Amino acid sequence: MEPIFIFLYVYMFVVGACIASFVNVVIYRLPLGISVAKGRSFCPTCEHQLHAIDLIPILSYITLGGKCRYCKTKIPVRDTLLEVLGGLLGMLCFYRYGIDWMTLISFAFVMILVAISMIDLDTMTIPNSLVITVLIVTVISYPFIDISVIDRLIGFFAVSLPLYIMNYVIPDCFGGGDIKLIAVCGLMLGWAHLLVGMFIAVVIAGCYAGYLMLSHKVDRKDHIAFGPYICFGMFVALLYGENLLQLYLGIFGP
Ligand SMILES: [Zn+2]
Repeated sequence: MEPIFIFLYVYMFVVGACIASFVNVVIYRLPLGISVAKGRSFCPTCEHQLHAIDLIPILSYITLGGKCRYCKTKIPVRDTLLEVLGGLLGMLCFYRYGIDWMTLISFAFVMILVAISMIDLDTMTIPNSLVITVLIVTVISYPFIDISVIDRLIGFFAVSLPLYIMNYVIPDCFGGGDIKLIAVCGLMLGWAHLLVGMFIAVVIAGCYAGYLMLSHKVDRKDHIAFGPYICFGMFVALLYGENLLQLYLGIFGP
């Protein structure tokens, strides 16, 4: 590999970890209604203001031994794992698209999906503001994703409308946030790739729900957060939807 590419991979990891650090702020503040843009970061336990040295992604956690510098309360390891994930996702987007606008677009898309997934796991809701942010990325990405307006419009309704109708028949069987997210992702990916993403989401969520029921960790009436599965499916569909579709048609097609 050429040195410039090694540098760019490292660069994407560092940028990814930094953006994920901001995503952590969004995950904590948005459900509490605290502005994500204003105010310095502070320790949630002792409320001591954190300085730049305490906020270096991944490295601060290691140098502080996983504890707040001021009150010695443990810093959630999830925050740091998310920063590592952000770095790896940055590298993955660069691996897929190289030096191209799609690297930035796919990375922005996946980081919003990470925020949505974590907030859905924490609170069982998907904030409208994040769905609108996905919509903004969809509009920006329009010239770079070669899918017709018709396919996108069909994508907007293809899954969201049946789910919306199902919600009338069986109240609250799907979260409203899930349906809005699926609609916007359909607009971004077009109906064919949306279906690839939904297939991945349903298969993985189904396996996990089956495992939980068999191990008696939940019963049939419990809800599981579906958002993270939708997000995973949609990100895979954006990066590799076309490859998966061709693979599927190669096996089952005419
Ligand atoms: Zn503290």
